Amino acid sequence: MSDTKFCYHCRTHHPVEEMRQIDTKAGKRWRCIKSIQATRQGKDAREAFGRSVTEINKAEARSRLRMVQNANNERTGPT
Ligand SMILES: [Zn+2]
Repeated sequence: MSDTKFCYHCRTHHPVEEMRQIDTKAGKRWRCIKSIQATRQGKDAREAFGRSVTEINKAEARSRLRMVQNANNERTGPT
């Protein structure tokens, strides 16, 4: 069991080992490393996300093609 801390960025709790305590005007706050990195990377992260979506689309197209090929095999297969 690990402690969780309230992440002011996500407004939810994360395991404390995934978080960093940072100083804000309002005092010390906890924020998850993921959200810190997401903000820091910004544009890079969005582009990486776009690339991964493209990969998913390609994989989907391949699996759809495979289904079509399987359907054809069934039709022309031995009787
Ligand atoms: Zn968070």
